[in-house]
Amino acid sequence: MRNKALFQKNLLAWYRRSHRPLPWRRTRDPYAIWISEILLQQTRVNAAIGYYERFMQRFPSLKNLADAPIEAVLQVWEGLGYYGRARNLHRAARILSEEYGERIPCEPEELERLPGIGPYTAAAIASIAFDRNVAVLDGNVTRVLCRAFGIREPPKKPSTQRQLMKIADTLLPNGHAADFNQAMMELGAMVCKPTGPDCSKCPIEELCVAHRKGIVDQLPLRSAKPKIPVRIRVITAIEHRGRLLLRKRPLEGFLGGLWEFPGVYLKGDEKEEQGLLRIQERVGPRLDVQRIPMGKDFSVKHVYSHFEERNRVYVCEGEGGANKGRGDGAEQTYRWIHPTRLDAYPITGATRKILRKLEQRKTEP
Ligand code: SF4
Repeated sequence: MRNKALFQKNLLAWYRRSHRPLPWRRTRDPYAIWISEILLQQTRVNAAIGYYERFMQRFPSLKNLADAPIEAVLQVWEGLGYYGRARNLHRAARILSEEYGERIPCEPEELERLPGIGPYTAAAIASIAFDRNVAVLDGNVTRVLCRAFGIREPPKKPSTQRQLMKIADTLLPNGHAADFNQAMMELGAMVCKPTGPDCSKCPIEELCVAHRKGIVDQLPLRSAKPKIPVRIRVITAIEHRGRLLLRKRPLEGFLGGLWEFPGVYLKGDEKEEQGLLRIQERVGPRLDVQRIPMGKDFSVKHVYSHFEERNRVYVCEGEGGANKGRGDGAEQTYRWIHPTRLDAYPITGATRKILRKLEQRKTEP
């Protein structure tokens, strides 16, 4: 590759001069770098900072994390979404504690055997924490490479991915993988942004094909975003003596281990009344659908990455009772919780929204 040395020199000098002082960049501790990489998998840097600091405060070492109950981990993770990341982190911490003597492996192949670590995260940890010579390819790096090398193929196509990986590998300067990989990601995040890249501030401007040809805004090629489905969920906010009835979701699966109001997704052309009857079957005598006052229901929308949830919330008085209920053939955990105690529970984002709306309604005339 022509100008490879200039590309490396300009990019590294720029990074050392102008990178953001992010908290995980102040350390080479593999545990801290692992946590930051998992947080950053589906979260923007600015949103991840607070979570990273709280997480490291609550679980300062791998042993702290491995010894903690999953509920404590989910609680720190609450609001961040993609809760599978938290469950995988916890599982991996236990594996590392029991089988690796609390040591985080330095080779990407070994890292990839742990839950929640794919090729990108393995390469990021191995290069940033251990300076292993492996290139990374995330969304930011992909964009920079597509523009810098004028690649006119859809970046998600497997053959383009292979081509990009090859370029990234070739560009990597021996012994400087930590800084170089972070420099590529930083360039994509701060200068070569998805829209309105600031080429005048770019350290590789003179080498960039897209800039030279005036096609920066055409690259990388965009693929149309698929429409996400809408699911209707009927929910009951059941109150009894100032406490609310919440249900813990099964640990495995979507939003596993988080707490929420009892609810069901409507099937086909099922009516909301039928959905309420199905909730009653699950929570038992604590709910009598005949006593749900009409006209007090409201709607709350919540969007996940793969579907949109329209929650129809029915507010009602319930009866006290034991903490077990039935659902989908399995016993489920229900609990009456006073609103002031809810901070002690990891709760779904939709449930938080509903709680805020319930609070607002109390103060509305
Ligand atoms: S010159 Fe512009 S388009 Fe090219 S890599 Fe730099 S910021 Fe991106």
